[in-house]
Amino acid sequence: MIDSTSFIPCYDFSIALNSTYLKQIVPLMIRHNIGANPINYAIWYDYVSGSNAKLTEVVDTLISEQKPFDCDTSIELYRKHICNTSLESFEKINSHIQKVIVQATSSITDTYNKAEATNDSFQKKTVVLENLSTATDIKTILQEIIKETQALAATSHAMQAKLIEANNEMQLLKNELVQVRQTAATDGLTGLLNRRAFDQTLSEVVEQSEPGQAFLSMLDIDHFKRVNDTYGHTVGDNVIKYVASLMKKHAEDYHHVARYGGEELAIIMPNTSKEQALEISENIRVAMEKSRLKRKDNNQPLDTITLSIGITQLQTGDTTESFLVRADNALYQAKETGRNKVIHDQSS
Ligand code: GH3
Ligand code: MG
Ligand code: MG
Repeated sequence: MIDSTSFIPCYDFSIALNSTYLKQIVPLMIRHNIGANPINYAIWYDYVSGSNAKLTEVVDTLISEQKPFDCDTSIELYRKHICNTSLESFEKINSHIQKVIVQATSSITDTYNKAEATNDSFQKKTVVLENLSTATDIKTILQEIIKETQALAATSHAMQAKLIEANNEMQLLKNELVQVRQTAATDGLTGLLNRRAFDQTLSEVVEQSEPGQAFLSMLDIDHFKRVNDTYGHTVGDNVIKYVASLMKKHAEDYHHVARYGGEELAIIMPNTSKEQALEISENIRVAMEKSRLKRKDNNQPLDTITLSIGITQLQTGDTTESFLVRADNALYQAKETGRNKVIHDQSS
């Protein structure tokens, strides 16, 4: 069963990032005469963060058509584009499943009742048959029995068709649920696992792995504030997306690549050797250092952007927290000792 909390919209909790957003959201809300209530803030938060492409498209259209952002518009935007993958879709799928079950059950009950009635009728006819003497009478009763048998077969066929239909619908609903669940676990900007999915996966891996057989790699973009300040937030977002693509490219399929928050990313590596974990992290660092990124709008090259990476191995007695703290300490050491490097924390 799906944990209902996984349908709550997911936000980044970094104070620096949120204050950057705040400074963009407030002037926008003032300019468009928007009441500062939580629903409106959620809409403009998603708009500014660029994490919700559909919402951005609709808001841009409303702005270009100079449509007012009144109460109904806000609620519609919120329901359609923010709560879209939340409780509403879950409830819709749930009620659909209930309906399919009720229909299938009623079809089975119907067929069962008809079979019972036919059985009663056959029993009565058996008594009658025993007492009949003429061939014509026997023929009449046999014709009735054949008719009832045919009717029962038709009902049974109808039930079979309904059950096949119910089965197909259940399959579609199952696929829809998988999709809703996937959206709820995905970071809107990068397509990686979001923070909540990261937390959940990390705790599963810590619980299920033998000490020494799982690694955690934390990556942070160096001087990213400078990237934003020099090239703007949109270029910054594209750099995060690019780092995410490098991580996906170099990690194994069974690794869990996530956006931990802001410009901090992570790879959870179960069933991985130390050499492999270090090699993957180093390959990502080198690939980033060697990348010659260009601005999409004017094709101008960006200055080299680098990554600092902290990596640690699961140890006996580790909790999710101690595992994370060690990876974070390693990342901190990478920053402190000059950035653009991978540090392996071996302390216990
Ligand atoms: P350091 O090398 O020490 O990591 O320096 P830094 O500048 O990268 O670190 P700092 O934590 O001071 O700044 C991180 C910046 O990342 C601040 C925040 O505005 C920006 N940021 C966080 N998330 C996002 C995002 O989703 N998009 C963009 N464009 N910027 C983001
Ligand atoms: Mg940084
Ligand atoms: Mg950071």
